[in-house]
Amino acid sequence: TSNVSVSPSDKGILIVLSGPSGVGKGTVCKALRACAPDIVYSVSATTRSPREGEVDGVNYFFKSREHFQQLIEQDQMLEWAEYVGNFYGTPRKFVEDTLNSGKDIILEIEVQGALKVKQKFPNGVFIFLLPPSLTELESRIVGRGTESEESIRNRMSVALEEIAMMEQYDYAIVNDQVDLACHRIRSILTAEHCRKDRM
Ligand code: 5GP
Repeated sequence: TSNVSVSPSDKGILIVLSGPSGVGKGTVCKALRACAPDIVYSVSATTRSPREGEVDGVNYFFKSREHFQQLIEQDQMLEWAEYVGNFYGTPRKFVEDTLNSGKDIILEIEVQGALKVKQKFPNGVFIFLLPPSLTELESRIVGRGTESEESIRNRMSVALEEIAMMEQYDYAIVNDQVDLACHRIRSILTAEHCRKDRM
C-alpha cells in the first residue's frame, strides 16, 4: 500500500476554450468570471489594435509586431498564431505559475494555438463551443431542404470545418444559453478534478 497515492494532484488544470468566430466565447468567459471566480484567466498578447473599451493588460497586452516577435524569440510564448493578419499569443510564465500554484486557468484561443497547447499540455481540458444554430442547421440539411442548394452547401462546409476541428477537443458545448454553457464548463471541471488519472 505504500506507493498508493490517494491525494489529488496539487496542480491546477489548464482549460482551453475555442470555437468559431461569433459563437460567444467572450460572453461565456465574462459570465464564467462571475459564476466560477476561482478560475484564472490568461491574458493574451496581440498585435491587433484595441477595440473601443478594451484595456491594455486586461483584455489583451497590446504589442507592436516587433515586440511580439521578440517575445517569440525569447521563448516567452506558450503558443502563438496568426489570425486574420494579426498575431495572438499566450504568455507562458503566467500560465505555468498559475498551474504550479494549484489554480485552474482558462485560455480562450483559436484552434491552431489550441493544438500547440495540446502538444505541451496533454492533460489539459479542451472545450469547443458551438453555436446553437448548428443543430438547427443539421436538421435543416437532413430535413426538408427548403433553402437554396448553394446556401445549404455553404453552411454545410462551414459546419464540417467546425466539426473537423472539434475532433481534437475533449468536450463540445452548445452555447444556447450563456448560463447553461457556464454550468456545463463548471461541471466538466468538477469531473476533471475527480479523474483517477489526475491523482
Ligand atoms: P479577437 O481579435 O476577436 O479578440 O480574437 C480573434 C481570435 O483570436 C479569437 O478566436 C480568439 O479566441 C483568438 N485568440 C485570442 N487570444 C489568443 C492567443 O493568445 N492565442 C491564440 N492562438 N488565439 C488567440
